[in-house]
Amino acid sequence: MSNKYDVIVIGAGPSGVFLAYEMIKLNTGKKILLVEQGRRVEDRTCPIEKVNKCMRCKPFCNITSGFSGAGAFSDGKLLSYHLSLYNEGENDFYLGGNSGSYIKKYLSTQEIKDLLAYTDDVYLEFGADPKLEGIENREEIVKLQQKAKKENLDLIDIPIRHLGTEKAHELYGRIEKFLLDNGIDIMFNTTVDDLVVENNEVKGVKIKPSEKAFDEEYEAEAIYGDKVVLGVGRKGAAWLTKMCNKHAIEQQTGPVDIGIRYELPDEIMKDINKYMYEGKVVARPGPFKDKVRTFCQNPSGFVATEVYDNNLTLVNGHSYKEKKSTNTNLAILVSHNFVHPFNKPIDYGMNVAKNLNELGAGNIVVQRLGDIFRGRRTWEEDLKNNKVVPTLKTAVAGDITYALGYRTMTDILEFIKSMDKFVEGFADPANLLYGPEIKFYSNGLILDETFQTSIKNLYSIGDGGGLTTGLMMASCSGVQLARIISKM
Ligand SMILES: Cc1cc2nc3c(=O)[nH]c(=O)nc-3n(C[C@H](O)[C@H](O)[C@H](O)COP(=O)(O)OP(=O)(O)OC[C@H]3O[C@@H](n4cnc5c(N)ncnc54)[C@H](O)[C@@H]3O)c2cc1C
Repeated sequence: MSNKYDVIVIGAGPSGVFLAYEMIKLNTGKKILLVEQGRRVEDRTCPIEKVNKCMRCKPFCNITSGFSGAGAFSDGKLLSYHLSLYNEGENDFYLGGNSGSYIKKYLSTQEIKDLLAYTDDVYLEFGADPKLEGIENREEIVKLQQKAKKENLDLIDIPIRHLGTEKAHELYGRIEKFLLDNGIDIMFNTTVDDLVVENNEVKGVKIKPSEKAFDEEYEAEAIYGDKVVLGVGRKGAAWLTKMCNKHAIEQQTGPVDIGIRYELPDEIMKDINKYMYEGKVVARPGPFKDKVRTFCQNPSGFVATEVYDNNLTLVNGHSYKEKKSTNTNLAILVSHNFVHPFNKPIDYGMNVAKNLNELGAGNIVVQRLGDIFRGRRTWEEDLKNNKVVPTLKTAVAGDITYALGYRTMTDILEFIKSMDKFVEGFADPANLLYGPEIKFYSNGLILDETFQTSIKNLYSIGDGGGLTTGLMMASCSGVQLARIISKM
């Protein structure tokens, strides 16, 4: 390992990994370093499967840290706009998060489609399933969309390439080997503690071994780079806020998405599961008219947990290619847009999560929908006899309404009621709500058309800086930045 690089990337999540991949392909000859606070992908295991309990892995959670970031344990649903298969001639499409509006500002429709198709091809090259969900049965999908529309619900139609949790792990393992074999330096178990910034220009990073990450006395070592790329993901959102404050990196207050993970029988969701695999539904229910959406739908899937540095436990979900449950899970998220003078959406989300974690003695809280409507908490006994058996065994029965605000809760319940008119049984009293599910990608860094922040030579890609909200767009942002940097 050297002490000076052309490009230092903080975080080896999909955004950083795809940046490195593309730099190799472009044959730039530049010296690249990825600094990753977690482990190699092959060393990442989550003990919860064996011991049925979150062991709060130290120094960092294996679900969210390590090579391929949150991608390794993700369900691996890739939005796949493969031109040869889909949407030829269409001029508008959903990209998710800010990336839609941001990338659309600087790239033409054709350039975006090419970028998406190229990135999709890289996933295929490393072994992604060639099968795309949601491209057959077009008539049925249109019928579903029309039915949803009647209830003021937008059902967004996107083809999905489903990697599956266990396959995503293997695929990223092959990419890791490819990067290492092709001269990319990767420091694992190494945390970037600080940025080296002089006269508004980044000069490098300060690193610590991850086991010393929280040791204030330990002296961090500087490594220098001509360009530094932030690819820290949602997990790095709090650290990024700290860096923004310390180094005056310009940011704008973005939304924070707060909600729950909903679990219900596959049988209820069978049409969407069958025809689309994932149905992304967006609505603005009254009286607040906030944006409420479903996200990360997992047919025959499993509800999962993820633990953040400050020990916050959040709920998520995934599904395997082979191991199946009989339940579908999906997130129902409410976008909270705060206005002046409040500008701390991450703190807000963390406080909600902290309260809910405390109510569950550090665990995810689960509650039946019917109990919420009846104004009572759920007890362990209720779950034993419940029609929907929770797939997250560590979740603790309780009352999430104590911690989610009135506005959030009302938005979610109104959304569920509208969904019930579209999908019969969606509001069945036995269905389960798990909380908290929060997406901390609200650090909206202000970027120029080269993804450069207000600090010279400091760039941001992926979810952490608020640019993207999912695997495909995070990966695309890495490819795009590599292309930009290679021309500099
Ligand atoms: C359980 C689960 C299921 C998901 N399912 C899907 C899905 O089906 N489809 C989809 O599109 N998306 C899904 N996602 C989201 C998806 O994984 C993310 O959108 C994607 O991984 C973002 O990529 P990224 O590179 O921006 O960040 P991340 O993947 O979060 O990677 C960031 C990396 O940076 C490292 N890092 C952070 N701070 C530092 C630091 N200071 N020093 C060193 N390293 C640091 C972290 O350890 C991490 O490895 C899921 C996520 C989870 C957790």
